[in-house]
Amino acid sequence: MTWSPLTGSERDVALAVLLDGPLPRSELARRLRLSAGSLTRLTKPLLASGLVVEMPVEHDQESGRPTRPLDIRPAAHHFLGVKLTADTAYGVVTSIRAEILAHGRRPLPDRDPRSVVAAVAELARTLGAGHGGRWTAAGISLGGRVTEHATVSSARYLGWRDVALGPACAAALDCPVVVDNDLLSLTRAEQWFGAGKGYDDFALLTIGEGIGYGLVAHGRMRSGPDASIGVLGHHPLDPLGPLCPEGHQGCAEAMLTIPAIRHRVSLGLGRDVDYDTCLDLAAAGDPVAARTVGDAAAALGRLTAAVGNLTLTDRIVLSGDGIRLADVGRPSFDAALGRDRSPHASPLDVVVRRTDFTDWARGAAATAIQTYALGVPAGGTP
Ligand SMILES: [Zn+2]
Repeated sequence: MTWSPLTGSERDVALAVLLDGPLPRSELARRLRLSAGSLTRLTKPLLASGLVVEMPVEHDQESGRPTRPLDIRPAAHHFLGVKLTADTAYGVVTSIRAEILAHGRRPLPDRDPRSVVAAVAELARTLGAGHGGRWTAAGISLGGRVTEHATVSSARYLGWRDVALGPACAAALDCPVVVDNDLLSLTRAEQWFGAGKGYDDFALLTIGEGIGYGLVAHGRMRSGPDASIGVLGHHPLDPLGPLCPEGHQGCAEAMLTIPAIRHRVSLGLGRDVDYDTCLDLAAAGDPVAARTVGDAAAALGRLTAAVGNLTLTDRIVLSGDGIRLADVGRPSFDAALGRDRSPHASPLDVVVRRTDFTDWARGAAATAIQTYALGVPAGGTP
């Protein structure tokens, strides 16, 4: 990818303004330990490029002198984010601060990479109609392994191996494209623009068709080949629990994914029920659904405690399409969390975030924004 990344202190200035602007120059200089002269020199190219703008005159809170705070011009850049599932492309248009300006979806006619690229281009055309149809960059995310932020080395849901999705989408969209694992991109969005903003350390757990896990430590996201294959999904939680397809008894995948919960409730009731119905029945006191959902919520409590205990992180964000489990099964969740956490440890700061596919697409846009601002996604390698 060749889109002249910012480096060193210039990058730090742009990033501070992007994440926390508008900022007075005095505040910016203090945060980054820069002299007023250095700050002026560093901001000059950022102002010239149009990324950073000077706001109307204010009076500095400390000195009382007039100052023009620096901010990002959100309208200067639009980013496209697309999340691919096995049958649908979900898309968003965002500002440079990942605010969603438009969203939509398009079914995939089949799983042939050429059909998928054509569907992404068509979705982009529809979304771009109200936004000039130009993107500073686009991010595409999907469940699977991605190398060099360009090639999908494996994607189980799409049945892909070694698909050069990045270059194909870049040609179709006529803009730089970065491809990312969907869970990692969602973690990036939470880190910069969501529940992880301002935290040096936090973990993200998602519950859906599978179990997702992202970890940010010392401001850097853990990445690498094993970060995108859902290893935490096979963490053991209940020695008497059901089996997962890999033969683990009572692992997270077997206990608390949407398919696992649906399967157990459907089996107990003798009829096929969807996930929301399982949770509705549990909330209404149906014995089969309440028992299954209670067991699953307890497993989620154990998993959350394990993440906190092993990583020494106390901020844990729970999210994903199935996370209503944490609300409906709250008493079981809290009890299990309490049992597995030392009474001497600080209490875990657990945040439940309801998300849908639009949030996952926003994650893909966040990867594009990080790449634009840093040259490489945070935690990634050039
Ligand atoms: Zn397993």
